[in-house]
Amino acid sequence: MLLTITTTTQPATDLGFLLHKNPGAVRTVDLSIGKAHVFYPEANDDRCTAALMLEVDPVALVRGRTGASGEGAVVDQYVNDRPYAASSFLSVAIVKLFGTALAGRSNDRPELAASAIPLEVRIAPLPCRGGETILRRLFEPLGYEVAAERHGLDAQFPEWGESAYFTVTLTATKRLAEMLNHVYVLVPVLDDEKHYWVGDDELEKLLRHGEGWLAAHPERDLIARRYLKHQRGLAREALERLTVGEGPDPDEAQETNDASEAAIERRLSLNEQRLRAVIAVLRGAGTKSVVDLGCGEGKLLRELIDDASFERVAGLEVSHRSLERARDRLMLDRMAPMKAARLTLWHGSLTYRDARLSGFDAATLVEVIEHLDPDRLGALERTVFEFARPGTVVVTTPNSEFNVRFETLPAGRFRHSDHRFEWTRAEFRAWAEQVARRFGYTVRFLPIGPEDAALGAPTQMGVFVRG
Ligand code: SAH
Repeated sequence: MLLTITTTTQPATDLGFLLHKNPGAVRTVDLSIGKAHVFYPEANDDRCTAALMLEVDPVALVRGRTGASGEGAVVDQYVNDRPYAASSFLSVAIVKLFGTALAGRSNDRPELAASAIPLEVRIAPLPCRGGETILRRLFEPLGYEVAAERHGLDAQFPEWGESAYFTVTLTATKRLAEMLNHVYVLVPVLDDEKHYWVGDDELEKLLRHGEGWLAAHPERDLIARRYLKHQRGLAREALERLTVGEGPDPDEAQETNDASEAAIERRLSLNEQRLRAVIAVLRGAGTKSVVDLGCGEGKLLRELIDDASFERVAGLEVSHRSLERARDRLMLDRMAPMKAARLTLWHGSLTYRDARLSGFDAATLVEVIEHLDPDRLGALERTVFEFARPGTVVVTTPNSEFNVRFETLPAGRFRHSDHRFEWTRAEFRAWAEQVARRFGYTVRFLPIGPEDAALGAPTQMGVFVRG
């Protein structure tokens, strides 16, 4: 099967720098399922085409020589379309040969890798289960012009009718990485026959390669279902993770709500006091590495990164927009390299186990838990206390008893309309103590902000220390 990528960007031969493949050479690599070759049928300043040709070895497939990954293990016949049709093997080859371009990086042409360029992609033959309609429903919402030529079963016997195979041409002006990620995900979806084991790893791949486009794709359910080979549990998890916090527009809602929460709390400059209290706890515990969970726009991160005693600082956030803002506010692009090297920002959700969160001295959850539905809180508890398991965990949350003191807050309302709950001191204490007990931590409680004799302080903080 053949994938060609053509560009008319000037000079077009820069495509070679983007793909990290020299237009003057033929490159061949061995894959577990056969060989892949990259070569350039045309390469001049006006127009350049790179071709990725996959030679699948049917015998290797059947022998299951692929072992560990299990690719091919379920292909039990020598005669099938696998050696000829574009399938998940093409995605495997893309990773292997165009991995850097897929990740959006280019050593020699970083600006070009970040720019939309005219692209024409041709895939032949592409099996399209569901026909041209599905093909269009998958690619057109992403801004591609789609041309499809359907192949008959046999040119000699037109009466046999049409096959499910197409030669597909996709045209768009896009970043090369965007296009490669679309192809990486959607070719196996169209083929709808993944020939390797689908596990958690596949789910991660789908989310990674779908980042930035899949969540908003009108066919995302179909894509997740087919990509994960109709494993309902995994598809459901994928969709949940793609739609975390989905309401009208979670980010926009967040911004307005942030503004009103800020107004309610302004007089106390509670936010300042909170950050100072959290940092004091971290310093007191001799923290060298800290991850801020639900870091929002990075207010705490900014303080932490300015203090060199925090050697490694990371932020995890589920909202892309907040993360973007954190990047802007921290001026990550212009940050001194030594400082920038201490800081990492991650997109992710606290309701899923995340290996990146292990190995930190401390984790902070500043005004985050109340943003989770109570039935998702258990998942967060396990992510933080069972899997990440830092020595210290600092959790702050509103003390709902204090709300009556906020003059502008109507009775019975939460401080922030995205809050799913606000707890009294007793409720927070009960939650924190059972979490501590369950995961082998001790917990102490500290007030933040001016304390009212009867109502307590506006914010409550729990400091968990691993036993
Ligand atoms: N800690 C920040 C932001 C608090 S607002 C500060 O003090 O300024 C709560 C943040 O938690 C929001 O940015 C929200 O997007 C994030 N959040 C909500 N649910 C999350 C989840 N499941 N995983 C990660 N972050 C989440």
